[in-house]
Amino acid sequence: MKDASGVACGGTGAEREGMKPTNPDTTAPHLVAPAAYPLTAWFLGPHAENAVPWRELLEHLFTDYVHWRRNYFPSDPWIVGRVTRRSEEHEAWYDWLTSHLDVILGELKYHFPLHSPRYNAHMTSELSLPGVLGWFAGLLYNPNNVTNEVAPITVQLELEVGRMISAMLGYNPRTSFAHICSGGTLANLEALWVARAVQFAPFAAREYCRAHNIAYRIRTANGRERPITEVDDRTLVALRPHEAAAVLRNLVASLTGSGRPLDVVSAELTAAMATSPYNLARKGLGAILARTGLRPVVFVSASAHYSMAKACNVLGYGEDALRLVPVNHRFQMDVDALRGMIAALAPEEYIAAVVGIVGTTEEGAVDPIHELRFLRDELERTEDRSFWLHVDGAWGGYLRALFGGLAVPHVPHGAGLERVCEEYAKALDLREKFEVDVSTGHPDLRTLEVHWGDHGTIAALLAVADGDSTTVDPHKMGYVPYPAGVVAFRHGAVTEFVTQRAQYISDEKGGIGSFESGKIAGFGPYILEGSKPGAAALACWLAHRTIPLTVDGHGKIVRTTLLSARRLWRLLTYHQHLFDRFEAERDVPGKSRPFTFIPIAEPETNLVCFVARPMVWDEGKMEAGAVPLAEINRLSRAVYDSASIPGSRSHQKPSAVQPFFVSRTQFEERQYTAESLAELLERLGVSPEEYRKEGLFVLRSTTMNPWHGEAERAGIDYLFEFVRFLHTVAAEAMDS
Ligand SMILES: *Cc1c(COP(=O)(O)O)cnc(C)c1O
Repeated sequence: MKDASGVACGGTGAEREGMKPTNPDTTAPHLVAPAAYPLTAWFLGPHAENAVPWRELLEHLFTDYVHWRRNYFPSDPWIVGRVTRRSEEHEAWYDWLTSHLDVILGELKYHFPLHSPRYNAHMTSELSLPGVLGWFAGLLYNPNNVTNEVAPITVQLELEVGRMISAMLGYNPRTSFAHICSGGTLANLEALWVARAVQFAPFAAREYCRAHNIAYRIRTANGRERPITEVDDRTLVALRPHEAAAVLRNLVASLTGSGRPLDVVSAELTAAMATSPYNLARKGLGAILARTGLRPVVFVSASAHYSMAKACNVLGYGEDALRLVPVNHRFQMDVDALRGMIAALAPEEYIAAVVGIVGTTEEGAVDPIHELRFLRDELERTEDRSFWLHVDGAWGGYLRALFGGLAVPHVPHGAGLERVCEEYAKALDLREKFEVDVSTGHPDLRTLEVHWGDHGTIAALLAVADGDSTTVDPHKMGYVPYPAGVVAFRHGAVTEFVTQRAQYISDEKGGIGSFESGKIAGFGPYILEGSKPGAAALACWLAHRTIPLTVDGHGKIVRTTLLSARRLWRLLTYHQHLFDRFEAERDVPGKSRPFTFIPIAEPETNLVCFVARPMVWDEGKMEAGAVPLAEINRLSRAVYDSASIPGSRSHQKPSAVQPFFVSRTQFEERQYTAESLAELLERLGVSPEEYRKEGLFVLRSTTMNPWHGEAERAGIDYLFEFVRFLHTVAAEAMDS
């Protein structure tokens, strides 16, 4: 079989030649890790402070690459000689190229300064040096990880990156399978694609057993064994995911165990699978749903990223299959509401997946993954129904670096859970005290304190290990260049059901064994995508090797960003006390009409969402007063306009003159009902009716820039300055 790039899949050229791809894990055992991992070394820096080592290393890798070319058959003639290189045409063409490049380099100065601690807007920031070096190296050699025939080294690196990410998530790196893809959207799609394939595999097995009168027994979700031929559709589609994945393999084992030769069983089953009306890949979902009358439902919170709707669309579920579960006041999925929605499913509806989000795109909220698992345990016991639990950690997956090496494999119920979370909160000790000056004359310092370590959040992060699949985006909190997402499967064998070669039949021991080091020949047959950059694997590998996914490595970045969010949140809630000071510092006569900033919730990760709200003076004190929502939205929108440059207008305003950046979002009744926002609406003094009519304009800040903590030591508190800036632009909007 050939893939789209015309490269044959399957055979491994390197193995045929007797050359084993090297595994850097084992080829450099003498490398000694440094005594410490200094965050200040990892990024270029707001002023390109680390430019010297960057230049040196970039030049080093290019020079090294040139040597490699020169030394590959050095006695071959030079094709482009000095005379040609110096010819007029050459010179002219290089000038032509350079002038184009310069045009674009000039244009790029209008690009947003994503690296800057002044940029607190979208989910993007600095790039790590190893991430960039890895990409450059990959770029030059240009491996295609679709197959190791064009990527002998980087396929191995990608497998290793998969193991590093799996270990970070708490999966067993030897039995899980994770790989790089273009991003969270693809990762979510692939996870649900594999889930779909796993769910219907037992149907083909049941059909085969019925046709051949085979008394093969399977374990249904409640753990009891029953002959597969007697299991109804609704129960069969709701097996525990790893049981469903094992059905065919176990069937082969049971048939060969009763004395029939493997090749005969294989041939028979292969033929049966090929023509089975339940062969999902061949017949399509529509045919199977029509045959069984089943209807898929995917549960995800109202905060879902829109890639979930895309996935339902592409997989043939239809976007109506997506059921949005209401959120609580912290924008976490309301698991009781989910329980109710599951109980209310029609008899023909089945759960195609439950998706828990770790780090919602808008609010950075973390769904209670542990409670989703408890709910699943409960459904298995009481209803003989399980479900595929997918964790969308595109944003927050890297928070697991906080637990690097420490994670408990199974989150316990009840008091045990409390104790575990308490221990982690203590061990992490994520807290910070800082002073702010509220005075308009003599210094008047107040000490504020922030800390991170909510037990619910910790429990949810620990329970990521119990999901069946997880999405993580290295190009977000991994600080590597686009495009790099990762999808990880706890039981690697599940991906057999989407492979282009059916290993579960042809090789009893196949499947996951083939993913173990060195045995897979490329990713093409196992995943959604085809040609894919080995450079992404190199970038992730170098980044995670040199900034390990532990609390002393990558966890340092995570820590600083979590504290930044808390600090920003604290400063915004403290704004009323800073009002007079900021006003005194504004170079205008008199005081602005009163206003303040109201965070929508205490941030769980490193995103802060807030609203700018006009207030009233009441005997010199700032009070909420009655303010129409339209006025609140107007003020927030004015702040946004002054703290952003719309992409389409960026040429009228070079980013260099924009001191701070913020992003925004809009809450609407169809996403978040007025009931789920009740607590927020009350704090804002907004009636549900007003909200339903107008929606709520929300300012949104990602605090993922790694420099905030360091900058403060260098004498500038960007988060404080950011709040001062927000004050100034809001005051101007109030005055106008
Ligand atoms: C960003 C994000 C995605 C989509 O990831 P891309 O890399 O942009 O495709 C999915 N889910 C969540 C929660 C995200 O934050």
